[in-house]
Amino acid sequence: MFGSLEGRSAIVTGGSKGIGRGIAEVFVNAGINVLITSRTQADLDRTVGALSGRKGQITALVADVTKPEDSRTAVATAVEQFGGLDIVCANAGIFPSGRLTELTPDDIEQVLAVNFKGTVYIIQAAVDALTASGHGRVVITSSITGPITGYPGWTHYGASKSAQLGFMRTAAMELAPKNITVNAVLPGNIMTEGLAEMGEEYLDRMAAAIPTRRLGSVADIGNAALFFATDEAGYITGQTLVVDGGQVLPESPEAIAELYQD
Ligand code: NAP
Repeated sequence: MFGSLEGRSAIVTGGSKGIGRGIAEVFVNAGINVLITSRTQADLDRTVGALSGRKGQITALVADVTKPEDSRTAVATAVEQFGGLDIVCANAGIFPSGRLTELTPDDIEQVLAVNFKGTVYIIQAAVDALTASGHGRVVITSSITGPITGYPGWTHYGASKSAQLGFMRTAAMELAPKNITVNAVLPGNIMTEGLAEMGEEYLDRMAAAIPTRRLGSVADIGNAALFFATDEAGYITGQTLVVDGGQVLPESPEAIAELYQD
């Protein structure tokens, strides 16, 4: 059985929607006080409303991960509101699609600015507070796309998700003497509000490519993040955890067809 995380505090970037909101929900249910950030006040308000009254408190701040000063403000706010900071979930991300031959320098810059540099800035800003906590935890939301798989239209996105892991391995070493662990969750296809709009036929096709025959839930990712945040995971650092229902396992479409032929 894992020890309680009640009373710990966390920042979840991109916590207003999707996976970030799922992480925030798992955390507040576990008694962790959570500050969620994103660029959109209305979405933050909606999530705070939905997740209030749980075991942990939830508060929100408009902050853009591409701006280092916003990340510093987010850390200062969490420390002020909760008396310290124990966990950072670098989760905010964007995934615009564009084929390699059509990508502009701006397209590439934007994806790297949010997904890669945004990850670096929030972690940099939090190092002192996480050191003071004595058991600092960083959990990065990467992806199977890039580190393990490819998908047409996502050269830049895949590169940004791999960049997070290249960063993580040295950051984990540098922060180990401060008792801070740095790990990453690699989600497969996770059911979010955005994905729900793609329609049932599309979702059924996606689920059919996954051995467990279902898309992941945001709670599946939240639970993996919660594990990395525990004291029991304190000897794990610089590692990745794929949470994908076995999506990366089939060596061919035939392998999946074979699985469900009767
Ligand atoms: P989502 O539902 O679109 O949520 C993204 C969140 O990030 C929102 O809160 C968004 O709020 C915030 N965000 C975007 N740009 C930001 C910025 N510059 N500064 C601060 N916040 C920003 O996406 P999601 O599917 O949950 O994805 C979350 C993470 O999971 C991403 O890193 C993504 O790469 C990863 N992931 C997702 C899946 C999946 O199947 N869903 C699979 C693998 C990996 P605002 O736009 O209002 O700022």
